Amino acid sequence: MENKAIVALKACPSYEAEDVQAAIDSIFALCGGIERIVKPGQRILVKVNLLMKRKPEQATTTHPAVAAAIVRAVQRAGGIPILADSPGGPYTRGMLAGVYETCGMRAVAEETGCSLNDDFSTTTRFYEEGCVAKHLDLLGVLEQVDAVITVGKLKTHGLSTMTGCVKNLYGLVPGTLKVEYHARYQDVGLFSDMLVDICECVKPSFSILDAVVGMEGEGPSGGRPRQIGALLGGMNPHAVDAVGAQLIGLRPEQVTTLEAAMKRGIVPPYAVAGDALEPMILSDFDIPMKYRRASWVRLVNKLPQALRPRPVFTHRKCDGCGTCVRACPAKAIGMDDNRRPHVDVKKCIRCYCCQELCPKTDVEVKRNPIFALLK
Ligand code: SF4
Ligand code: SF4
Repeated sequence: MENKAIVALKACPSYEAEDVQAAIDSIFALCGGIERIVKPGQRILVKVNLLMKRKPEQATTTHPAVAAAIVRAVQRAGGIPILADSPGGPYTRGMLAGVYETCGMRAVAEETGCSLNDDFSTTTRFYEEGCVAKHLDLLGVLEQVDAVITVGKLKTHGLSTMTGCVKNLYGLVPGTLKVEYHARYQDVGLFSDMLVDICECVKPSFSILDAVVGMEGEGPSGGRPRQIGALLGGMNPHAVDAVGAQLIGLRPEQVTTLEAAMKRGIVPPYAVAGDALEPMILSDFDIPMKYRRASWVRLVNKLPQALRPRPVFTHRKCDGCGTCVRACPAKAIGMDDNRRPHVDVKKCIRCYCCQELCPKTDVEVKRNPIFALLK
């Protein structure tokens, strides 16, 4: 394993607190010990995935048992953890309060004594080395911390194929500013490069992927929970994502953030430590058709907008909340007199924010029929 980045992989069949703590402690130990990452007195931002107000069992957000285990490990090393994320939608104290409560993070704070971020300021980072984003507006709490641990949730993703530790860092962009970023980086390649720029600018000290129960199908919010039974982590976020991709039967290059990182030569050679990867791979994990082959990913991403998969509002469960209208960077969604949303596909830039943020999972991504023929 010399000269290779270590990705520590541990089987973890459930979110029982003891099992999760043992797996998280092993992961840090296999990577050289948490003392490499956390020094006494340091403030550590634990960047969980809190995409939306969902209960832990819905597998949309980082499970609180995983957050709690990381918090305890940081505290034992003498660090001061702060749980933080900016979900989709407005980034306000009131909105965050409901998300913290429903996602189980308030309980984590009560059990462990850690803080929940309540700094709603924005900081600007100038990142000259950025490939496409040299100027990033990010959560102000970053200025208060010494290090960041990114804690992704392993799920399929309509835009990037999979979300893990790198895509998770998009939650460092405050609230509705994400809509502007989607508008600015419309092409999936540009968007993925921007995500990699955020990751390289923030440089998380450690990355952990919650893959005990992931999400398959129409992720990151409209799919189905699926038992994977693993926790993994390492110093390099791209290497951790690459192993996460393999766990769900993807080749790393099928994940657009990994493809972008590979082009830059920043995905190091890596080796898996801990439990064996091969027996845990789920070759039948439901990955939307267009992503099953790397060549299709490239093909789909090169198609003109009109031929690319488009969002369809089913109006089955929609309650007219308007989240999709506010989230749409292209202003392509309008409401009819009955408060039913409709999309103007000519304006749509295929960012899939409407699918990602619809609380009722009422938005589906409909593929061009040609892809249904390519089995
Ligand atoms: S489609 Fe979803 S986000 Fe849009 S109005 Fe209906 S319930 Fe709300
Ligand atoms: S309609 Fe949906 S997929 Fe299209 S631009 Fe708006 S949010 Fe993005």
